[in-house]
Amino acid sequence: MTAMTAKTVRTRFAPSPTGYLHIGGVRTALFNWLFARKHGGAFILRIDDTDVARNLDQALEPILSGLKWLGIDWDEGPGVGGPHAPYFQSQRADRHRAAVERLLTAGHAYRDFARPEELDEERKAAQAAGKPFLYSRRFAAFDEAEAARLHDEGRQSVVRLKMPREGSLVIDDAVRGRVEFAWEREQDHVIQRADGSCLYHLASVVDDNDLEITHVIRAEEHLSNTPRQAFIAMSLGYGLPAYAHLPLVAEPGSRTKLSKRKLAQYLKNADFKQISEHGTRIAERIGLAPEADTFNPVIVDFYREVGYLPWAIDNYLALLGWSYDDKTEFFSRDELIRGFTLERINSSPASFDPKKLWAVQDHYMHALPTDEKLALMLPFLAKAGLVSDPASAEAVATVRKVIEASGDRLKVAGDILGYADFFLVEEPVMEEAAVKQRLAKPGVRALLEQALAAFKTLEPFAPAELETACKALVEQGGLKIGDLIHPIRVAITGKAVGPGLYDCLAILGREKSLVRLERALPLCG
Ligand code: GLU
Repeated sequence: MTAMTAKTVRTRFAPSPTGYLHIGGVRTALFNWLFARKHGGAFILRIDDTDVARNLDQALEPILSGLKWLGIDWDEGPGVGGPHAPYFQSQRADRHRAAVERLLTAGHAYRDFARPEELDEERKAAQAAGKPFLYSRRFAAFDEAEAARLHDEGRQSVVRLKMPREGSLVIDDAVRGRVEFAWEREQDHVIQRADGSCLYHLASVVDDNDLEITHVIRAEEHLSNTPRQAFIAMSLGYGLPAYAHLPLVAEPGSRTKLSKRKLAQYLKNADFKQISEHGTRIAERIGLAPEADTFNPVIVDFYREVGYLPWAIDNYLALLGWSYDDKTEFFSRDELIRGFTLERINSSPASFDPKKLWAVQDHYMHALPTDEKLALMLPFLAKAGLVSDPASAEAVATVRKVIEASGDRLKVAGDILGYADFFLVEEPVMEEAAVKQRLAKPGVRALLEQALAAFKTLEPFAPAELETACKALVEQGGLKIGDLIHPIRVAITGKAVGPGLYDCLAILGREKSLVRLERALPLCG
């Protein structure tokens, strides 16, 4: 749209407050944000709350906090205000009603007193005659006196658009290219109900115009709403915004829309299951009681709660339907803003790929400096009651060492729970399976006793020396290193996996390591 080039770019994300932020919704928000940032424009958050039955604050909070967490900041909207306030659709009802009046006056809409059964009759007659249904608009020409009479008869009226019946609307969609809609396929859509409230499409168009939105970038499912919305806009004398209808965010390995309600089905996908179960384990440890409805990988809260990196999510979502050059996978914030164009959005459904998301998260976690990991991870340990808040200097030092020793095993911040817990408690929880598999075997007790004896005098009690000592022990006994380090690991950590064993022993220190080895002896075979 050439008309737009002179104007400052203004985009918007217009969620309905549903109580959660869906992955597909964030992708829409992100693309709007990227486009506005790239062009030095404004990104506006508008809340489409006309149909919100429940508590608005509760329904809105996860959306606002989710966007904030992801760094998708808005220039105008809830919390920040702006020159076009209010940014809640429900508070703009006067503007909507005024627009309906203008449409009526200009003859682009009419009051319709028809009863549902009268409409049905017309529809059936058209069907019987094998013709497309064309509403007779039987009350459209009634004057005020006649309207008052109909009202007295007990009829109610709605306001309908007087849609064109010939020709077509052509839009130049930034993603789909030229899209043509034949007007004859449109009905006379209702824009105002009998109770005076306005319908969403009318409200949306009026708000977009009032907010001076230049680019409507939204989900594909709204493409079919475009003709009626464009008709409203044109009838009100507004210029049309540029449109970009984004490809569907689809289920893993499919072209069907991703839905939060289909968790059970998605769990059949091994990668989805892995992410979901991994997150649920973390959530349980910090006292969240995950409910499948609001805690699942289709919803942004899931990633925030278990400690994914927000930029990893943004970076992954940017690639859901968009690409820079078919090979670049990782972008800094500035690179992404600079590289983003609507032209490179693909029109076919973009399948949500949990494995890819995991890989992107892994990439950013790997690159994160220890201090930043520490800052992200300490709150998880505090939530699980493993450190105080703020944590003691001693605990911070231990956690730092654990992070260093764990390396890339820590995939999300919440993983620290499973890697640091045994260092931070007096007695680790002994996992039954690990005890059975590694300790309760013949000969293990004698081995641990030898290790105990060796560790008592080892100087210094440090990873390299511990490794040498353990190797010497197994060589003497003609054993393999695993025969010794697996039982020691279970004895001191209570579990079968964790950071490198020599690091674990060194972090724990001689005194505690010896106590734990002693304590494990009775469990040995
Ligand atoms: N409130 C609408 C939604 O949540 C926004 C539609 C639009 O972007 O025009 O889908």
